[in-house]
Amino acid sequence: MATCGSLCCDGGFDKDGVSTTRTIESCLPLPLPVEILEDIVPKAKDFAILHGAGMRYRTNYDPDSLQLAPFFLLPSAFPRREFERVVKLQSIVNILMHRIAHDYQFLKDALEKTIKVDDFTRRLWDIYTTVREEGVSQLISLGMFRCDYFYSVPSQIAQQVEINTIASSFGALAARISVMHRYVLGELRKPELLGHLPENDALAGLCGGMIAAWDAYGCPKAVILFVVEDVTYNICDQRFHEYEIRRQRPDIHVIRRNLTQISQQGCLTSDKRLIIDGDEIAVVYFRAGYEPGQYHSEAEWEARLTVERSKAIKSPSIHYHLAGTKKVQQEIARPGVLNKFLSDSEAKLVSQLFTGLYTLDMSPEGDQAVQMAMENPERFVLKPQREGGGNNVYGQEIRTVLEKIKDSQEREAYILMDRIRPPIQQNYLIRAHEPVKLVEVVSELGIFGTILGTAKDIQFSKFAGHMLRTKLSSVNEGGVAAGLGALDSVFLF
Ligand code: ADP
Ligand code: MG
Ligand code: MG
Repeated sequence: MATCGSLCCDGGFDKDGVSTTRTIESCLPLPLPVEILEDIVPKAKDFAILHGAGMRYRTNYDPDSLQLAPFFLLPSAFPRREFERVVKLQSIVNILMHRIAHDYQFLKDALEKTIKVDDFTRRLWDIYTTVREEGVSQLISLGMFRCDYFYSVPSQIAQQVEINTIASSFGALAARISVMHRYVLGELRKPELLGHLPENDALAGLCGGMIAAWDAYGCPKAVILFVVEDVTYNICDQRFHEYEIRRQRPDIHVIRRNLTQISQQGCLTSDKRLIIDGDEIAVVYFRAGYEPGQYHSEAEWEARLTVERSKAIKSPSIHYHLAGTKKVQQEIARPGVLNKFLSDSEAKLVSQLFTGLYTLDMSPEGDQAVQMAMENPERFVLKPQREGGGNNVYGQEIRTVLEKIKDSQEREAYILMDRIRPPIQQNYLIRAHEPVKLVEVVSELGIFGTILGTAKDIQFSKFAGHMLRTKLSSVNEGGVAAGLGALDSVFLF
């Protein structure tokens, strides 16, 4: 293999011309000597758990204990040039999403067909149109986005996997793991490598967004509402947001409620202030509400509508949520669209983030995409309008699914995307109650961004930190919560 961090992709190619040799050198020569590994793993675990890199147990849930969140022992290599490129572009991507979200006609044209076949997106759309017709009572939106990227070996640039506009998680834990990796490299007596680890202020950045929104709301007694799941497994990540807000601003309170509780305890005043258990809500931060299963009944949908009708500043507002759907992302990537929302030079830079995205609507263009996917399913990912991982279709299953739906409008619930081929490297996977394992992995970089403003007046648009999630190279999706992926940080080379 080549030297530290360098990439070798000059090996074989598959029949589609895709490089099959995609290795990248880890930050240290691996495997580590056994005695060093035996020394460093318990140190890393202790550091992680003592700094709150934990989660609640999924099986045998116990509110009194935490389990170590899965993580990688070493930071994973990621090309510095591409890291810096996507960091630099984040503030423009924020503005793009902000403008898209405020363009009713664009959202309508993009989602018109999708909402006929996808019930969840239709319900979100209905809330949007209800609020619009009633007259939006809060013109300010708060964006707390996370754009995800793989470094693509064939194209040798970072390419966007998706843009999350709701419940962008792991800002807190990512920052902790960055610090843990500094400690690990120090313990391994490699201080000379620390310059490869970028600082990560994701938690402060994201909370700074919420605090700015709270200030913009302008009511000293009002609180921030976190909309949470019925049971929160990723509790450390969420709680650290609360603690960071309190650290930065002792005067701001946070309350947590799930959608069911909001339906029971929430109400609007005649001037559309949102009141929950006597507290006026200045800012709503959704950590739930992005998947159908979180709306158990009409009551939860009513709760979402109540929040959207209110004066509270929402992250995301309903139009931001819609702008983050996979379908809208596919429409944004059409030639010429970016130029409607950005300057020519910005549009050019942002367009370079996108890989091929294809509509599957019942048009000749959609037919062509279906055919392309059926012929070469390994080259694509089939995506429904869902969030939270585990929903996409890969490989031969794309054929099976498309075979069933290709002649019906049902296919309009999906989009098709080129499959990105990230480089493979080795790292040590550490999971609670399991022996440490040297495994082959790929890494997905998340770039956080915050933006605050009205359609016309943007107060700020910022890069707000980063995160790295790494998964076994053999799995299609690697959700950290699902146990297939793990927390990581970047080693820039
Ligand atoms: P979600 O909103 O559910 O997170 P994503 O679009 O991020 O949906 O897809 C989930 C996961 O699937 C990603 O984290 C990544 O591992 C994998 N994935 C998605 N799109 C691609 C792609 N174009 N190429 C390769 N892997 C992908
Ligand atoms: Mg997503
Ligand atoms: Mg994702």
